[in-house]
Amino acid sequence: RGQQAQVHRIAVIPGDGIGLEVVPAGMEVLDAAASVDGTFQMRYETFPWSCRYYHETGRMAPPDFLEQLRGYDAIFLGAVGDPSVPDHVSLWGLLLPIRRTFRQYVNLRPARLLRGVPTPLAGRGPADIDFWVVRENNEGEYSNMGGRLYPGTPDEIVIQNSVFTRRGVERVMRYAFELARRHPKRRLTSATKSNGINHTMPFWDEVFRALSSEYPDVATDQYHIDALAARFVTHPQRFGVVVASNLFGDILTDLGAAIAGSIGIAPSANLNPERVYPSMFEPIHGSAPDIAGQGIANPIGQIWSGAMMLEHLGHPGAARRIMAAVEHTLGDRGVKTPDLGGKATTRQVTQTIIDALLEGE
Ligand code: ATP
Ligand code: MG
Repeated sequence: RGQQAQVHRIAVIPGDGIGLEVVPAGMEVLDAAASVDGTFQMRYETFPWSCRYYHETGRMAPPDFLEQLRGYDAIFLGAVGDPSVPDHVSLWGLLLPIRRTFRQYVNLRPARLLRGVPTPLAGRGPADIDFWVVRENNEGEYSNMGGRLYPGTPDEIVIQNSVFTRRGVERVMRYAFELARRHPKRRLTSATKSNGINHTMPFWDEVFRALSSEYPDVATDQYHIDALAARFVTHPQRFGVVVASNLFGDILTDLGAAIAGSIGIAPSANLNPERVYPSMFEPIHGSAPDIAGQGIANPIGQIWSGAMMLEHLGHPGAARRIMAAVEHTLGDRGVKTPDLGGKATTRQVTQTIIDALLEGE
């Protein structure tokens, strides 16, 4: 074409377990999408930070890992975690500092039923599941503030504070309203619990109502988190965009992934919408030690996360082509890993997706 392809510098962290199997699959698919598109190219740098790294060095990553990551266009992460390392060590040693230092205050997760994927809601009529959950990713209930008094005694008191800031709530809600404006349903639902939690949640509702007057073209509703969880199961077709606090969003997005078929296909984006810092893209599943090393992990959660990364980097067409190739593989070819009831390997699913991409299916 005579034009220089745009180069995207990507920091790759495969992590542990099946992360080491699905991340290379994701990179191959991204490369295939880039070669079909022709306007951009991926340049990867891979970092070995993981629980293995922890056993060798006593840390999940070197002390300057945040500085090392800062200059990249995006971070492509597999899964971090191993039964031999406590969860809080692997989380606070790598993932949470990335999310917080890089102001990735939006955790965006689609709940979308792909062609060829069975939903546990089948039997309730045609399933129309296609909505986004926007989870607040930097504050709220996951505050790391609190403590224990009189431990081990009958008078023991344990406190964990929730922290909601006006800046933090407004920015994530604004992102959600903007996203709802672009969703065909033009509806934003807020998860609350202002009947039982009487300081933070009424504040959350207040900000939601104030912003909704700035977005008269977006229909809004509010549900208590318990009722909302039930409606995900009974009326998933009602939702367009859902905005929730850190804890509520965590729960809702796992539920969203479950009604949309399998934990092995669900993707997520940790976004810094201002693009001052790199955003991070990762499947919602973990390192799955029970199936690691067998070559049967479903690579689609990683591949879909890669498609979200391309969208973020300004290539929505390439992202759409990846998802079309994924749906062709699952829906038309029926090539599926065991978690979706198939017999295919990680390699076979990946290759079928790449072939479909290159053939323009
Ligand atoms: P973590 O603490 O890292 O979140 P976890 O044990 O809570 O890990 P996962 O690692 O996601 O959760 O595993 C949950 C279950 O889902 C396991 O039985 C695992 O084998 C299965 N699973 C997770 N991801 C995949 C995948 N990509 N393909 C197939 N099965 C998967
Ligand atoms: Mg888990």
